Amino acid sequence: MKINEKRLLADLTALREFTDTPGKGVTRFSYGAQDQRAREYLFGEANQLGCSIKVDALKNVRIMMPQNMEGRKRVVMGSHIDTVRNGGWLDGIYGVTSGLEVLRTLKDAELGKNLELVIFAEEEGSNFGSTMTGSKFISGIYTEPDLEKLKTDKGITLKEILQNPPPEAIAQVPWDFSQIEAMLELHIEQGPVLEQEGLPLGIVDTIFGMKVMEVELSGTGNHAGASPMEGRRDALCAAAECIVAAESLVKPHGRAVATAGKISIRPDCSNVIPESALFTIEVRDREEETISRYMEQIKEEIRSICQRRGIGCQIRETSQSKPLALDRELIGKMDSLAQSRNIPAKIMDSGAVHDACMIAKHAKTGMIFVPSIGGRSHVPQENTREEHLLQGAQFLLELAADLTGAEENH
Ligand SMILES: [Zn+2]
Repeated sequence: MKINEKRLLADLTALREFTDTPGKGVTRFSYGAQDQRAREYLFGEANQLGCSIKVDALKNVRIMMPQNMEGRKRVVMGSHIDTVRNGGWLDGIYGVTSGLEVLRTLKDAELGKNLELVIFAEEEGSNFGSTMTGSKFISGIYTEPDLEKLKTDKGITLKEILQNPPPEAIAQVPWDFSQIEAMLELHIEQGPVLEQEGLPLGIVDTIFGMKVMEVELSGTGNHAGASPMEGRRDALCAAAECIVAAESLVKPHGRAVATAGKISIRPDCSNVIPESALFTIEVRDREEETISRYMEQIKEEIRSICQRRGIGCQIRETSQSKPLALDRELIGKMDSLAQSRNIPAKIMDSGAVHDACMIAKHAKTGMIFVPSIGGRSHVPQENTREEHLLQGAQFLLELAADLTGAEENH
């Protein structure tokens, strides 16, 4: 059994055009017009297969094969179709189009019972600044009150965007996980590891956990010309030193990562010494203990820098997620499948979190990576070699066929 390569590439090329920023990467936010166009395209294809389509109150989608049998557990494949602003053409949508191609191939072979394709809504957090919103509702992490807490930067709530869905509809969103045999997400790596090692396929072992701290520094604002360098209490200079210190602490050890991704200063004027600086530092690793250790070391370093500079500092931990080990049995299955097909695959960790991680808390979950050229993602240059895209989709087909017992029933 083989996927139809042309058909898959045609889907990817067609969907690439559904962007708010033509020529400048793909910008397709959930609940927007381009998201709608992409949905219509995918629903059209699914209808041709005779699939039934279920859209929940959050606009997560489940596309079910017509031959699905009542009472049999389902294997679910999928990912997301939304993007960041000026993002790439493969992130998320590659897993969705590959899943669609698997449905078609199995349909052509009159197989594919108990198989579903899922499209998770609002994975990137482009609207509300919170990632994996759709899958968080599916897994019960988010519930009805969160509809009003999640707001766009214009202050529009998720509830308003969804046109005030009734509580009963929201209550229907979480999945009945006793009905899920396995969840499979095929995704681009978004990092450089596979390419550097010359490997076409990655099998995800552990998803990095993370902790985030918010640091508020307060110094003294003053005239940028009339204040001598000596005796200044410059909050931004202190922040810069803290951020570089965090980098220096974590960098030599290889695996863990620390990032200061957000900073704001007051008064933010070219001719005033910054009085206050607010920034975040997040630390990620596969081990919770390592994350906590680095967090403590960074906090200690920040306090000592601030003390030396006469700067006030307040540190708050704002969010965290635990590292997540994916299903051992499924990893083993994927590993043997790769070996039997002579595909050199790497069992590796994922530094990024994906929708599958939300499902992994409740059902057997596997993630497959294909290489990203130059390790780049979330940018218009995001790309993967065609042969790797096709091989990844073929791998998904064989895995799905195996898990749904399609091979045996044939
Ligand atoms: Zn993604």
